Parts: sequence; C-alpha cells; structure tokens
Amino acid sequence: MKSKTDKEINEVREALRTIIRYIGEDPEREGLMDTPDRIIRMWDEIFRGYNEDKKPRITTFKNTNRESEIVYDSGEYYSMCEHHVLPFFGKYYFAYLPDPDGRILGISKVARVVGYCAARLQLQEKLAEDIINMLNDALKGKVGGFAILLRGKHLCKTMRGVRNNGEMSVSLYTGQFKTNRQLRLEFLKTIDVLAKV
Ligand SMILES: [Zn+2]
Repeated sequence: MKSKTDKEINEVREALRTIIRYIGEDPEREGLMDTPDRIIRMWDEIFRGYNEDKKPRITTFKNTNRESEIVYDSGEYYSMCEHHVLPFFGKYYFAYLPDPDGRILGISKVARVVGYCAARLQLQEKLAEDIINMLNDALKGKVGGFAILLRGKHLCKTMRGVRNNGEMSVSLYTGQFKTNRQLRLEFLKTIDVLAKV
C-alpha cells in the first residue's frame, strides 16, 4: 500500500474537525486540538488490515507425521463494525483438521491472522470468512476442514441499549467440519471446555 500523502492527511484532519463541530463540540478547544491527529495515528494501527505490508506471513510445515487430528486455538479479537464504526470484540475459537498429504499451519500465526483481518471495518460473519480464507490460502486449500466460532460484544448495541446485551455468536465450518456432524460436536464440546478455563 502506498503511504498517505500530506494532502490526504490534511483532508482527513479537516473532515474530523468538521465532524467534531457537527456533534456540537469546538475543535479548537485545548483537549480536542490534537484529537484529529491522534485518531489518524490510531487508524494506522486499528485499520492495518487494509495494508498489504502489514499482512502476517503464515508459516506452514510439511506434515511429515501425516497428522490428521483436530488442532485448536483460541484468543481475543477486537474489530470495528462497518455499520456504526464502533468496536465489537470478544473471543475466537478456531480448529482445523490437517490433511495428511498436505501441510500444517504454524498455529501461533492464527492469532496474527485474526488480528489482521479484524483490523478492518467488519461484520462478525465477514470476519470469520476472511480469517478462514486467508488460512485456507496459506494451505493452498489442502486441508481437512476449518471451524471457527466468534463470540462478540457489539458496542453499537450495548451503548444504545437495544437487544440481547449486544452479544452475538457466529460460526463457520468448511470441509469435514461441514459434512461431519460428529466432528462439529467435538469442536463445540472442546471450545465449551476452553471457555470455562
Ligand atoms: Zn454496528
């Protein structure tokens, strides 16, 4: 991605000042004077998911032992909803089934992929898809299947006090996780255990 020009940055700074004025504030007030620049710097980080240079390199290894057992990973994610540009965040639970004739994922890279894909304007469903697509590409589609479940709290719901406390769960299954109900149940049972520790 090409870096932003001064002209672009000036335009965004002005736009942010306009927004601050619009919500009823004074962009010249001391506490707000540097806010547009702070927001611009923060966006570099929380929207790095549009920057190809920041794309995590996913290590894969030859599946020398012909592993085909489910591999799990879980962690936290933070993203911004594309409808209101407010945070949604929570836990992800991930599993995949290595292809005995394929390659295996450096599992520590899953968290980076989640972080990278989350650093965009997102929907929880789309985030799940982006993560699986990126990992699937890294394995060149040679995988038994993927499972991911995202639990999230959406500030656009909780802050406005509507519906179910803003909690939402989204899951996505591919390959054998999609076709084999038993495997899916095993995943759900394991992440239920993970959620309690
Ligand atoms: Zn929203």
